[in-house]
Amino acid sequence: MSCLDAHWLFGGDPHGGFDPINSIASLTQSPVTILLGDYGLEAQSLAEALEPARGAGDVYWIPGNHDYESDAVYDLTFGHKLAQHNLHGCVTTIGGVRVAGLGGHFQGRVWHPRSGKPRERTRAKCLATIGKGNVWREGLPRKLRAAIWPEDVAALKEQAADVLVTHEAPSCHPLGFAVIDDLARAMGVGLIVHGHTHLTYRFDAAEGDLTVLGVGLRGVTDGVGEARVFGAIDYGKAKQLRQASAAGRRPAGRFHVPVRGWVW
Ligand SMILES: [Zn+2]
Repeated sequence: MSCLDAHWLFGGDPHGGFDPINSIASLTQSPVTILLGDYGLEAQSLAEALEPARGAGDVYWIPGNHDYESDAVYDLTFGHKLAQHNLHGCVTTIGGVRVAGLGGHFQGRVWHPRSGKPRERTRAKCLATIGKGNVWREGLPRKLRAAIWPEDVAALKEQAADVLVTHEAPSCHPLGFAVIDDLARAMGVGLIVHGHTHLTYRFDAAEGDLTVLGVGLRGVTDGVGEARVFGAIDYGKAKQLRQASAAGRRPAGRFHVPVRGWVW
């Protein structure tokens, strides 16, 4: 199901708690660690918070929706030497694997796929209309920078990749979006790994062409989909997912939720 091996690690939303990902990365000397957003930084920069993992190998990341909440949080997240390892909006070849990144979240002001067509497509056009008082650091307001922009999705669609890492979930999750499935398939991606929904799970699409890994709150999952650390609230979230997926529409496929040993 995966073109990766068990030495790769994915870290779910830390929200201030970096011990699990740092511990496992150090213990296993992981050559590649990828973080999926929502860092909850208060004093240390992202580079500082991930110092132990960086001692083991290369650390990459995408931003989540909470990483734009104040000027201080923004600077701690984006203003340091790990900035060049931000995977958002591009395809990066890591150990021979092409990894595409899509951070941030859908915002109604720009584009919320459940509300129809995008209201904005490009940052440049939006910036031209927002009025001088809203300009932040010579560009878009800080919170709008957390949006998923149609221009970024369109640019990614023109490229090929093996893995897509996102903050938002694809459509197998009841809170997810088919736009992300469509992006993955357009890029030839076989594996999506996402954060944000705070549950460790795997979903194998019935078509056999796509696997999704959700990584829980402060959870750690490896490159072959094994949960090394369950998310902190996986147990309750698993029940919610099962109930919601039974009630709603979702693509055909099979869920695996390791914290409860459930497969359905
Ligand atoms: Zn989030």
